[in-house]
Amino acid sequence: MSKRKLVDDIKLLENSKNEVHEAKKPKKKQFPDSPLFSRWGEDLTNDQQIAAQELFIKYGYNVYLSDHLPLERSLKDTRPPRCLEKKYPHDLPTLSVILIFFNEATSIIFRAITTIVNRTPSHLLKEIVLVDDFSSNEELKGPLDEHIKNYNAKHPGLLKIVRHQKRKGLTEARISGWKASSADVVVILDAHIEVNLEWAEPILSRIKEDRTVIISPVFDNIRFDDFQLVQYTAAADGFDWALWCLYESVPEDWYALKDETAPIRSPSIMGILAANREFFGEIGVLDAGMHIYGGENVELGIRVWQCGGKIEVLPCSRVAHLERAHKPYLPDLSVSMKRNALRVAEVWMDEYKNMVYYAWNIPFENPEIDYGDVSSRKELRKKLNCKSFDWYIKTVYPNLVPQTAIVAYGTMKNTLNKDICIDQGPIPGNTPIMYNCHGYSPQHTFYHSTGELYVGGLQSRRNAGDRCLTDSGKGELPILERCDEATAKELNMHWDFKQGTAVINRKTKRCLEIVKDQVSLNYRLVMQNCTGQDWHIQHTVKNWG
Ligand code: UDP
Ligand code: MN
Repeated sequence: MSKRKLVDDIKLLENSKNEVHEAKKPKKKQFPDSPLFSRWGEDLTNDQQIAAQELFIKYGYNVYLSDHLPLERSLKDTRPPRCLEKKYPHDLPTLSVILIFFNEATSIIFRAITTIVNRTPSHLLKEIVLVDDFSSNEELKGPLDEHIKNYNAKHPGLLKIVRHQKRKGLTEARISGWKASSADVVVILDAHIEVNLEWAEPILSRIKEDRTVIISPVFDNIRFDDFQLVQYTAAADGFDWALWCLYESVPEDWYALKDETAPIRSPSIMGILAANREFFGEIGVLDAGMHIYGGENVELGIRVWQCGGKIEVLPCSRVAHLERAHKPYLPDLSVSMKRNALRVAEVWMDEYKNMVYYAWNIPFENPEIDYGDVSSRKELRKKLNCKSFDWYIKTVYPNLVPQTAIVAYGTMKNTLNKDICIDQGPIPGNTPIMYNCHGYSPQHTFYHSTGELYVGGLQSRRNAGDRCLTDSGKGELPILERCDEATAKELNMHWDFKQGTAVINRKTKRCLEIVKDQVSLNYRLVMQNCTGQDWHIQHTVKNWG
């Protein structure tokens, strides 16, 4: 996209804005339910709204707006103030930046390139490697090649492009970019980012100090609708037992340093990463067996720690990342996430791998999920002489709490009616109910040999709120309480249960049962004197029950 065209477009937009103001005619919302228009686009004509909505559906973010914004806009400097006083050496390792994409908008990709070129010292930026994961958008084929040619005429050899001949998913796209790169350090980014001021120097000087550190910048969020920048506070990157990534609070010893510029030790990484190019190869790059999306970042996090590297988030390096409203390429991420999570569990998690099966509600025997061949990853683990997962969770990630007493899990049904399952009930609220079985996380239960019965998706992290079934002994409703609070308050949270028997509270001796409502004819979940009802839980561990 040429500068001239952009300026013209912006003028057009300005003019149409003025027209609206003159007419003072409020526009009718064409798509009142679209998240795109909840705080953006009041001034658009009907036709403009239709165009913007179409692009939004296709990309998951506001391409209409992106096409009207300049390729370089000034972003708020989101660094902690002391970062601005830091001086970095002139002589730092060189940098290859890898941008991977599958059907991203051209203006988005070019804004990423522009900010990288303008905000990285030119003597350090060796190349930008674009990896096209077999996009189908026509504008990303010939027209993009043309853009690259024009660009390289001004900056010889700066832009490279690698094109997959079939869709391989983001992990292989990142690996392809790494293979094609040649500088001392690689940074692998999403295509929908804008790097902020002096983003590269903290990364390069930290890797110069220690080649075994894998780095994440701090992401700020570009809102998908109005492209406003939302500043995020620095955090560590972690995950839950389903291996979804999440933010963790910063370790205590970081605060003790009293230096807001200091690297933050992190159990894992969100996806975007920087590494010494050779070290990244030595430690096994990424697991090429991962499909489409998810899990590859956690695999890297665990592997790096267990095999002798470390992971850090750098508060002075800021990358603004556009969080999409939806992923056009994969409506349900959980399909590939679940499969990829099993690869991580099988290769890296030793006796703790059960936790991943519990979190996804997958049986150990006949899981019916083909997670592919993991033999080469197991060999890599051996070759690198890596530590155990037990070491990792005790030393690096104590917030991740294993459960050792789970003996049965999954949905729970009463023999009176096989179509309904125990369900955590409305949130907020603490009354479990019977509901048509769908098997998603609100209907996951976990029975422990010690007598606790968890209801609702497994969290099992320090300070997270797994909820335990309790009987107050009064009234007819069972109650869900945070398990740690139930323990502290000595609530009646222990139950006797074996497969196909009653569920009896050890203290109150009342039973968890269902009764048919006279009016609605629906079943309610109640505590009452035992009438001999029996329960079945979906999966059992070893020979329990
Ligand atoms: N991507 C890819 N191939 C795929 C899916 C995604 O190359 O099959 C790219 C995508 O264009 C983006 C990056 O991978 O640059 C990360 O994907 P996304 O931004 O959707 O993930 P998120 O940042 O939301 O986790
Ligand atoms: Mn992204």
